[in-house]
Amino acid sequence: MLNTAKVTSDHLRRDAYLYVRQSSPHQVQENRESTARQYDFQRHAQALGWETAQVTVIDEDLGVSGASVAGRTGFQRLVADVGLGRVGVVMGLEVSRLARNSADWHRLLEICALAKTLILDEDGIYDPSHFNDRLLLGLHGIMSEAELHILRARLLGGQLNKAKRGELWIRPPIGYVYDEARRLTLDPDGQIQRTVRALFETFRRTESAYQVVQRFAADSIRWPRRISQGLQAGEVIWATVTHDRVLKLLHNPRYTGAFVYGQTRPRVRTVGTRGRSKQLPREEWKVFIPNVFPAYITWEDFEHNQAVLRANASKFGRDRGQSSGREGAALVQGVVVCGRCGTRMTVRYSMARKRTVHEYICQRGVQTGQSACQRIPGRSVDEAVSQVVLEAVTPAALDVALEVFEELQARAAEVDRLRRAHVERAREEAELAQRQFLLVRPEHRLVADTLERQWNEKLATLRQAEEEYARLTAGAGPNLSADARERIRALATDLPRVWRDPRTPARERKRMLRLLIEDITLMRDRVIHLHIRWKGGATTSLECPLPRRAPDLRRTPSAIVNQIRELATQRTDQEIAEILNTSRLRSGTGQVFTGRIVMYLRLGYEIPSFAQHLRRAGWLTSVEIAAHLGARRATAVRFARAGVLRAVRADDRGRLLFAPPTDSLPKPQPGKRLRDRAQYQPCALHSRKEV
Ligand SMILES: [Zn+2]
Repeated sequence: MLNTAKVTSDHLRRDAYLYVRQSSPHQVQENRESTARQYDFQRHAQALGWETAQVTVIDEDLGVSGASVAGRTGFQRLVADVGLGRVGVVMGLEVSRLARNSADWHRLLEICALAKTLILDEDGIYDPSHFNDRLLLGLHGIMSEAELHILRARLLGGQLNKAKRGELWIRPPIGYVYDEARRLTLDPDGQIQRTVRALFETFRRTESAYQVVQRFAADSIRWPRRISQGLQAGEVIWATVTHDRVLKLLHNPRYTGAFVYGQTRPRVRTVGTRGRSKQLPREEWKVFIPNVFPAYITWEDFEHNQAVLRANASKFGRDRGQSSGREGAALVQGVVVCGRCGTRMTVRYSMARKRTVHEYICQRGVQTGQSACQRIPGRSVDEAVSQVVLEAVTPAALDVALEVFEELQARAAEVDRLRRAHVERAREEAELAQRQFLLVRPEHRLVADTLERQWNEKLATLRQAEEEYARLTAGAGPNLSADARERIRALATDLPRVWRDPRTPARERKRMLRLLIEDITLMRDRVIHLHIRWKGGATTSLECPLPRRAPDLRRTPSAIVNQIRELATQRTDQEIAEILNTSRLRSGTGQVFTGRIVMYLRLGYEIPSFAQHLRRAGWLTSVEIAAHLGARRATAVRFARAGVLRAVRADDRGRLLFAPPTDSLPKPQPGKRLRDRAQYQPCALHSRKEV
């Protein structure tokens, strides 16, 4: 029965807070009953005299782990409101237990004592400001902690004993099932057994987990997975095998038929980390009983596999392992993101012509044996980024940045004054409310109550204003002294020198880069697109050409091709070759130009010849013009030679093309004419013929 004597009108005047928690989503799902029990407290509160409207339920933290107060916004709100004196009672399940082994709860109880807030859990109602109740809460806590300890020890002891007998239930690795006698046996499903054996066999042949994935993908071998939980528990699904799954299997000693337990040292949690479990050497495993159930591989095979995997790992380690991260030449490693799928790209080093080259590679797809999503040659990217960084960090650019910074500072100071004034006013009002409350005589209970509430409200407003002020000013940057500015400017002047100095280790260059750049998105098509996101949010987009491949290196430079394109409207191939040669230009393979080379280049780049240009513009062949004039072809040619008709040599074999009668053409160049007299206009020719 609840002891109602502790509840006073002061408590009832304030609200009742019900804190509902279940630490993991699993608990939320499984422990519905407990959740229901937690909500039951609402009725308790009403029985004690709180109105329904006064009960505030805080259940934002459902499914959030109780390990720390960080991330549990509901709990933070609870603490804040208790501190503000808004809460008459805090209700929750097992509060008394939580108080001892959870620092957060313990602190809450202390705040409750100061704010004269009651605690209600299923064991009873406590007033933490009373010594006896605090003692009781403490005892409860100690008892529950001891209970927990004994329980855990008993549980672990039992587990270990069972493990030592080889009887502990473990989730059967794929390829094994439990029989009726609760012994591990080979999976009766023949396909599963064969697939598991195929994996070990493929590894034995290829000695590479990655190769296993590739072979399985190439042969479309699906990998079984037995669902262990939920509605479909026990069912087998077949899917693509992944690299980490292969590794897991190869590292699992149970496939030798051995019962093993305690291969890892449990992870140790420290502040801010989740801890990592540590793999122990074979001698330190808690339990190792060989040949307990049927094996897929022998123990010797297993040990050989481990050695192979270790060797593979160290081979890779030099190339792309963590150790090379800081020392390798790849400048933007760790900040590159794939522009196609958004995955972080890794670096792969390889040897080419006795030099180490690197490329940035998006490994997405590699896990399942497909080819990489994107591979981008590293040097061009690194060079482009270096240049952008050096351009961005110049003394001039910094001066502009510093000016903007000052401008912002000035504006921030103005805003700060306004915000501070707001806090000041809230403080004055709170002080006024306090004075009014202190002035009222104790016998004027009602007035005192009202004034106290007003005082509390003003205090809360003040607190809010202060918090808001702190929050808004937290983002403001620091002031820069003249000295600091000078140093920054000196640094900018030094940067290009330090950057280009070959004695500067790659590691330092990378560190400098990381100070400036948040990430770089790479996208490759005909060129490489780089999108640089600077620290602070600015972005720069640029393109850099892909490095030229071997055939590209033999290719005639595009500038020359463009020149040919232009000349071909007015010159024959032979003439073009001569012009290029007088400019001392050479073909992609380093040859002197000939009419033939120009022709092949023209054909390769689909550039029309001079003759084709003229034909398109309506120029006529000798046959056509002869037909037009009503004369013989030889006559037309003779006319052209005599300069009566306007004609040009349109190719290297001397073929003549005749200007169309209307002559709206680009005029042939001087020197293109057969003779100066060929300048005669065709219309003149008509009249002559008519004559
Ligand atoms: Zn990708």
